[in-house]
Amino acid sequence: MIIKKLGVMTSGGDAPGMNAAIRSVVRAATHHELECLGIRLGYQGLIENDLLELGARDVKNIINRGGTFLKTARSKEFKTAQGRKKAYENLKKHQIDALIIIGGDGSFTGARVFGSEYDIPVVGIPGTIDNDIYGTDFTVGYDTALNTVIEAIDKIRDTATSHNRLFFVEVMGRDAGFIALNSGIATGALDILIPEKDYNLDQLFTSIERGNKEGKSSSIIVVAEGEKLGGVYDLAKATGMKYPDYDIRVSILGHVQRGGNPSCYDRVLASRLGVAAVESIIKGKRDIMVGIRGNKIIFTLFEEAIRKKNEINEDLIKIADIIAV
Ligand code: ADP
Repeated sequence: MIIKKLGVMTSGGDAPGMNAAIRSVVRAATHHELECLGIRLGYQGLIENDLLELGARDVKNIINRGGTFLKTARSKEFKTAQGRKKAYENLKKHQIDALIIIGGDGSFTGARVFGSEYDIPVVGIPGTIDNDIYGTDFTVGYDTALNTVIEAIDKIRDTATSHNRLFFVEVMGRDAGFIALNSGIATGALDILIPEKDYNLDQLFTSIERGNKEGKSSSIIVVAEGEKLGGVYDLAKATGMKYPDYDIRVSILGHVQRGGNPSCYDRVLASRLGVAAVESIIKGKRDIMVGIRGNKIIFTLFEEAIRKKNEINEDLIKIADIIAV
């Protein structure tokens, strides 16, 4: 199959560096003399025929910008056969021969279903701050989110130290503790709670007492959203009941973690994956996600990327514990 025209979209949760990935796809397409159409608002935009032509100059001045200028969405309609049929009809109408989807595992699940129903090559680029996708050491957006988180926690530490306070800081990560674990190590957290690790209140209290014994007057405990002990407010309440003299505060970092200019690492990663996605399509690959492992580009079937989990590095858990006090 000769590829003449590509469609590119961002889908699902947004992440810094998505713009850099779109830019790379468009420029790589131009380099290889392919036409490129941008699809706004992910699968929903494809269903609603919301497309625009993209040439090399149309993606100028975006490598440094957070978010995604194509916008992103979650589409219920694409989960229906009827919705996907409309999407395919629009692809045909625009004579698009192949699709590049920048998104998370939900978007790749959709891509897999679509690719099995219709004869259209689809290649994915992992874009999510959570780093929870199998088949890549790093996802686009993760490094930037980590840098945002450590900058915020450093600031929280300043006020924690001034008042001898104990802070519970919630960071993003519903199913994965990558942000919590790495930012916790990088900011010297007393303890780190992640969804992958079974934990109980007694262990938390042991950490707090150990910190106390070592003369720590203020402390940060980093908590991933998806941790299983009941969330930051319950943790703070239980800790307050156990240690009534402690000055305990909660901070939820929230959506700031999704924004901001992408870091150098994310811009370079997005640029590498964008070119790899286009070139893999030209070579006839389909139903795969491009990723990076050991600093080399690798390809993983959507089926595998969706089914398997990116494992937390056990060494990091151990290191976090050793250097906490
Ligand atoms: P992310 O890509 O960030 O994980 P979502 O999980 O919201 O985000 O998935 C993005 C979109 O992918 C959904 O809104 C939906 O349109 C599509 N999608 C997800 N799962 C399926 C599925 N099983 N079948 C068809 N489309 C799906």
